[in-house]
Amino acid sequence: MKILGIRVDEVNMQEAEAAVGKLIAAFHNGQGGSQIVTINPEGIWLAKDDPQLHQIVEKAALVSSDGSGVLWAAQKLGHPLRERVTGIDLLERLCDIGAQKGWRIFLLGAKDGVAKAAGEELQRRYPGLQIVGVDNGYFRDREDQVISEISAASPDILFAALGMPFQEKWLASHREELNSGVLMGVGGSFDVISGNIKRAPVFLQKLRLEWLWRLLSDPKRWRRYLMIPAFMSAVKRSRK
Ligand code: UDP
Repeated sequence: MKILGIRVDEVNMQEAEAAVGKLIAAFHNGQGGSQIVTINPEGIWLAKDDPQLHQIVEKAALVSSDGSGVLWAAQKLGHPLRERVTGIDLLERLCDIGAQKGWRIFLLGAKDGVAKAAGEELQRRYPGLQIVGVDNGYFRDREDQVISEISAASPDILFAALGMPFQEKWLASHREELNSGVLMGVGGSFDVISGNIKRAPVFLQKLRLEWLWRLLSDPKRWRRYLMIPAFMSAVKRSRK
């Protein structure tokens, strides 16, 4: 389906996991890496006016619904989605499955030491998980080295926590050189998994109020919510 002209796939978590499994199998069979995107209202709002981001979303192997605002919009447009498939939830599920299947995982992003701590926490939760590399997300002056490092590790999944939309654009522009099976942007996930930032309690997630928790725990984010009323009116208008 499309929300304001931007693609969102009608997949639930199980289908998203299965899709990633197929993409990794294709990578093992010599096909190139595939990018997947988890999109929230802010991403839709940006992609609407950013041809580069729009094209990345259009070409992605999978576009899942990150954020209750996307579910709200889909419902308004008459295509109710079954559930959110957020970046962090999908990352955790894929690490769980990956630990059993022997998938090789690379964690790129966040401040120095955070990806390493997130990797250790993921290995604690999912014993046997192969983390084949970690690096921080502040590499503007050593980009080539980071690309070679990832390419040499050839991970089945590269999780990039660099913030949206930079992570989507960076992964898309270096997709071939990165020599990775599935490339996926995961925003602030490493900060949460490493314990630097606390995720909203499950009851708030179920009430679709995770955004409110994020706003209250980091009020500096308020600017990012300014587009929400305009997003909501645009969705309502587009229904007519
Ligand atoms: N980040 C990074 N490199 C940068 C800018 C940001 O690694 O050049 C990291 C930052 O440390 C944080 C994540 O990207 O861990 C962005 O988190 P945020 O919650 O803002 O993600 P978004 O909501 O943009 O997906």
